[in-house]
Amino acid sequence: MSRFWSSIVHELTPYVPGEQPKLPNLIKLNTNENPYGPSPRVVAALQAEAGDTLRLYPDPNADRLKAAISAYYRLTPKQVFVGNGSDEVLAHTFLALLNHSRPVLLPDITYSFFPVYCRLYGVQYERVPLTAGFEIDPEDYKRPNGGIIFPNPNAPTGRLLPLAAIDDLLRQNNETVVVVDEAYVDFGGESAVPLVDTYPNLLVVQTLSKSRSLAGLRVGFAVGHPELIEALERVKNSFNSYPLDRLAIAGAVMAFEDHAHFEWTRNAIIRTRGRLVEELEALGFDVLPSAANFIFARHPKKDAAELFRRLREQSIIVRHFKLPRIDQHLRITIGTEEECTSLVKALRGILS
Ligand code: PMP
Repeated sequence: MSRFWSSIVHELTPYVPGEQPKLPNLIKLNTNENPYGPSPRVVAALQAEAGDTLRLYPDPNADRLKAAISAYYRLTPKQVFVGNGSDEVLAHTFLALLNHSRPVLLPDITYSFFPVYCRLYGVQYERVPLTAGFEIDPEDYKRPNGGIIFPNPNAPTGRLLPLAAIDDLLRQNNETVVVVDEAYVDFGGESAVPLVDTYPNLLVVQTLSKSRSLAGLRVGFAVGHPELIEALERVKNSFNSYPLDRLAIAGAVMAFEDHAHFEWTRNAIIRTRGRLVEELEALGFDVLPSAANFIFARHPKKDAAELFRRLREQSIIVRHFKLPRIDQHLRITIGTEEECTSLVKALRGILS
């Protein structure tokens, strides 16, 4: 608290990201990073870019990256917006497209940054309860609103809404923007990107932080009708001309060229997820079906906070949210095979 703070700052409750401790031999399964490194071709592109040209500002429009993303998804560059991580893209989205007289609808259990942006920008919102099985029921969103936003698969539940349900929701909701945050879609979901040519009010947001192993580079993007993209550009150009630096642009472009690395790592994670679910279920856990690079699980006989603490004593960090409805769940990022084996071994010890 300080008398120098603006009234807005006094009112803020900032988002708290998962911890990034610097412990040796840590098994870090708490922030949904990719356990595998980025493509060696991305690393080479970063190294090639690290030279004299760094004295020059980057391209404010990141045209090379927009070209790479639009080619990948068979869109035009005018349908693509890029930002410093998808968090920045989402922030601009709340200000540019979701700030209207009616409240934005979002799930009661969802990415906890959404309400933080709403408070920062004074956007009204309403939480729509997930079903008892932690699913989004599109019927609950078919009512007057100032916009709709949800991750698909949802976080931290990992549950996927089928593309047909999103299509149906868009058919009935054409007066406001529908934002689908596909941070985790590459791990088992079907992207809504092909629907942007049909629905001018659909914005799909993605990130290179998860399936492309580049959380440290900070690159996210949105695709949608050029009118939606122009709104985001207007906010971006009123905020920061150069959100993506030269290294980020060079690395991100290459990330869309190395298909083999992308396929290999995401398939490895999907395989490990299948095995981990089986092993946790054998230990008595209830595990929600996940289409993401994490799972959401609870043990009917063991308190989640205690499990979290006991794992942490063994240098295994997962995520526990002290929030209504989910305080008995743990969100566990899918690590390497070895990391998941260590996790299961530790849990077996704790439960026995
Ligand atoms: N959306 C969701 C649902 C997330 O879980 C995350 C990661 N915390 C993000 C967006 C933001 O990712 P980034 O800013 O690294 O692109």
